[in-house]
Amino acid sequence: MSIVVLARLMARTGRVAEPAPPRPELAPGVDPVLRGSLQVRHVDAGSCGGCEVELGAAFGPVYDAERYGARLVASPRHADALLVTGAVTHNMAEPLRMTYAATPGPKVVIACGDCALGLGPVCAGYGVAGTVADVVDVDVAVPGCPPRPEAVVAALRSVTGR
Ligand code: SF4
Repeated sequence: MSIVVLARLMARTGRVAEPAPPRPELAPGVDPVLRGSLQVRHVDAGSCGGCEVELGAAFGPVYDAERYGARLVASPRHADALLVTGAVTHNMAEPLRMTYAATPGPKVVIACGDCALGLGPVCAGYGVAGTVADVVDVDVAVPGCPPRPEAVVAALRSVTGR
């Protein structure tokens, strides 16, 4: 596709992002150095995949979490925040602990979805070791099964303050 065709397509499509809702309250207890810009490592600790679909939407062009200063990164070494989904399975408890340890401080943990909070449909399963808070310190909780993209974005904004 030529640059001219691309420019025409962009002009015709216009803006697709949702208008920004009012800024949510700041999450208490978050180190102020994390405000403004937040690098986020996602950890699936035992999700069914539903939360990930909504996370994909939260970082997609419509909800566009990046415009509020939150960005997904590929390594905990590059992250300020862990965004954890799913009930923590026995197999994922130690990797989650290690991922937390590999994330440089100050850092924040966002437990995303009912399963991460111990409220989800699979929490009593034989393979589940516990909630995210049973394994690492949780700073922000996002309830819902799955949480809507707006709720995920609001949780991220409560940390970035944007
Ligand atoms: S909260 Fe719901 S959507 Fe998310 S992992 Fe649990 S069952 Fe799946």
